[in-house]
Amino acid sequence: METLARMIRESQYTVVLTGAGVSTGSGIPDFRGPKGLWKQVDPMDALSVAAFYRDPKAFYDFYFHMLSEFANAKPNPAHLAIAKLEEAGFVKTVITQNIDELHQKAGSKKVLEVHGTTFAGYCLDCKKESPLAYSTEIPRCSCGGIIRPKVVLFGDGMPDAYFKAEEEAHKADLVLVVGSSLTVSPACYLPLRAKEMAIINLEPTPFDSRAIFVSHEKAEEELPRLLQCLDLAG
Ligand code: NAD
Ligand code: ZN
Repeated sequence: METLARMIRESQYTVVLTGAGVSTGSGIPDFRGPKGLWKQVDPMDALSVAAFYRDPKAFYDFYFHMLSEFANAKPNPAHLAIAKLEEAGFVKTVITQNIDELHQKAGSKKVLEVHGTTFAGYCLDCKKESPLAYSTEIPRCSCGGIIRPKVVLFGDGMPDAYFKAEEEAHKADLVLVVGSSLTVSPACYLPLRAKEMAIINLEPTPFDSRAIFVSHEKAEEELPRLLQCLDLAG
């Protein structure tokens, strides 16, 4: 951890890239994890453009179940530590693949959601954006059109936030990857744009050999240790 702390002190521009592993400590399972939410469904199908158009009611039944789990979740020490790193000026931007808004709940200010958010949608007819909250009905716009989620579904293109994330990664001296298997394309290639990368992920990733720091410990335990090394604990 001292090594990572030194790298962060020396870096002029550090960006954090997070994945589902940063939220497992908040009770939201990752795709590859053993339990919960994703057990009942194949996320590649349930969260696909095809599933949405095939049967919007069935799509939203699962979607709102997922949304209510996210809405009830609280940020864990990993999210809080990342927010503190930003507040202290050590981190410029948080790029997240997550759609649970836990970074914002933890106090992170500059968050790029490269896979969108569960809590908003837009009308298929008039394109107006609306917040999404739990419902047993298919959500509809004031114009009567069906609302689709702002989540990047399997089969969608990448949103503006992703292209901003590319620019941020390109500017960075250091990308700190937290809780991502680095297997979901194209987000997994973002760290390659920076000068250096560091990885905190429970399991090995395909990019471990390119990283100048790798930890296979839990993010919610490692990041508070990092704060201590940077005299930011407490
Ligand atoms: P992933 O499921 O592919 O990988 C998560 C990684 O996190 C795994 O390699 C695992 O070893 C690691 N991990 C699990 N718990 C950890 C912990 N406590 N500390 C450190 N590492 C831990 O996740 P991904 O790479 O983010 O990609 C999956 C896709 O699924 C993403 O696109 C994301 O949008 C979506 N997703 C989002 C959420 C969410 O919003 N919370 C949850 C599940 C999946
Ligand atoms: Zn509308």
